[in-house]
Amino acid sequence: MKKRSRKGRIEDIALQRIERLFELAEADARENKMKGRSRRSDRYVQLARKIGMRYRVQIPHQLKMRICNGCYAFLVPGENARIRLRGDYITTTCLRCGKQMRRPYKGLGE
Ligand SMILES: [Zn+2]
Repeated sequence: MKKRSRKGRIEDIALQRIERLFELAEADARENKMKGRSRRSDRYVQLARKIGMRYRVQIPHQLKMRICNGCYAFLVPGENARIRLRGDYITTTCLRCGKQMRRPYKGLGE
């Protein structure tokens, strides 16, 4: 196991920022529901990705699931994303660019 270094603390802060940005994105998406494109939530998500890249922090799995792999939109099920269960997989379809993302269903029940 790695010891917590100074770098580790910076990563913690970066991660906290990422989580906060996703909270903002979620809140904004809820607020501006049905307004469509010009949502700020996509910008929050872009910022979160930038922070992740700059500090080499991985975006937590459950948050990553909310970003489209194709156009990096913040995905809101029932609004700009469609979610289907297929066998052991969850298929998320981005309704903006049509990208489909498949993720194993098992192990997500935490
Ligand atoms: Zn997309």
